[in-house]
Amino acid sequence: MSLTTPPHHQWPLIKRLFELWNGDPSFRNGVEQDFGSLTKTYPLCPESLALAKKLWQDNSFTTQHYSRKAFPQFHEFLQHQQELMALRSRIRENCTPLPSRFKKWRQCQINRCDWQLGPAKNDTIIHMPLCFELSKGCSVGCRFCALSAQKLSSVFAYTSENSKLWKEMLQACRDIFGKSSSYASLYWATEPFDNPDYERFCLDFHSILDVFPQTTTALALADTDRTRNFFQLSEKNGCELNRISVHTVDDLLAIYSHFTGEELARVGLVLQNPGSLQMKVGAGRLLNSKEEAVEKTTISCATGFLVNMVEKSVRLISPWPADTDHPAGYKTYDQGLFTGADDFASLVQQMISTTMQYSFSSQDQVQFTPGILSLTRENETFLSSAYQEIALSQLSNLPRLHELIGTHNAGEIALHYLETEGMEPTLTFMALNSLLCSGILQTGIQQ
Ligand code: SF4
Repeated sequence: MSLTTPPHHQWPLIKRLFELWNGDPSFRNGVEQDFGSLTKTYPLCPESLALAKKLWQDNSFTTQHYSRKAFPQFHEFLQHQQELMALRSRIRENCTPLPSRFKKWRQCQINRCDWQLGPAKNDTIIHMPLCFELSKGCSVGCRFCALSAQKLSSVFAYTSENSKLWKEMLQACRDIFGKSSSYASLYWATEPFDNPDYERFCLDFHSILDVFPQTTTALALADTDRTRNFFQLSEKNGCELNRISVHTVDDLLAIYSHFTGEELARVGLVLQNPGSLQMKVGAGRLLNSKEEAVEKTTISCATGFLVNMVEKSVRLISPWPADTDHPAGYKTYDQGLFTGADDFASLVQQMISTTMQYSFSSQDQVQFTPGILSLTRENETFLSSAYQEIALSQLSNLPRLHELIGTHNAGEIALHYLETEGMEPTLTFMALNSLLCSGILQTGIQQ
């Protein structure tokens, strides 16, 4: 294991020790029960062993760990973690799309996710406006695949025709979405390295949109030279983070034997292996898992357009808690096919203007967002989900509005308040639209 090669900075060794702790139950056992056994099982270099002792043997965590002077390597590791969190916030901000209609619709979806997924989870979702698939299906078949990817059936090869289309589409995206298109990903229910030309598509993306796209691969060990070269290419072009999905503890140890701590300093390991402390997402293949603890949530991070380059399809999607109607943890609001870049641009513009709804028309049914209930306590009505609750009176001045939701359309509700309260229908619509954008109401029953 390349824990034997001390890197120039030692914080990547700390990163690796924490990955072992989180990923490998035997390592945790060794730390807790028999520290001396670690050197027999794991080829820890003296530096790693000294760091592990300091982390877990010398009185466990102490305030000294957080002192730069007492434990500089740990301090640098924490700084790196903070940089990653700042990076995610920066990307989320930069993902705000240019068209004002799209921008507002995206914000309504983000507000809805606070209710349905909880603010803590929602803060980790960047809500990127655009995502590409460069294959149809995936060759890997991970047991934890939260998107239930189909079997690999076809790849978007870098032919002259396809590369021309690709570049034209990226230019169209830049024109439509502005800077936010730079934060698209080039995989979804696909494995990036299934496409032998993935690197070429990334380089085009970088040259047109100025950002080298972030990558997560589950095939890091399939061709370690390719993986190493890809990480170098990516870093050289300014990409700040890539990730490897880890299937088993053996894979984790094999990754360490092939890549040094420094090589993976800016590569996150997604510990999907049995025995890891990372909570798995109960979506897709793990939707009804009984074998391991899962969290019914989503791994979807896009509120925008999912484009498959093989079938030339576009879907407008947003995260949704995984359930039987949304097994992959996202909801599709619209979909269509295109033939070329101009056609693609028209399709996207059309979805922005017709499907991105953030106000009610008279005929729209008014529904609570699934997961939100109205509860009455001590003469006060509250809107409540598993994650947050607020008094209805703080959001709306429409008396007993909750009694009309689910049974009336917006026009009927406006008429009701005109007749009972003398309220101008425009004021009722404003109140309903505000609740729609707060993520509390939905139009009709949408699946
Ligand atoms: S998790 Fe990724 S690599 Fe694994 S099957 Fe799903 S899409 Fe493929």
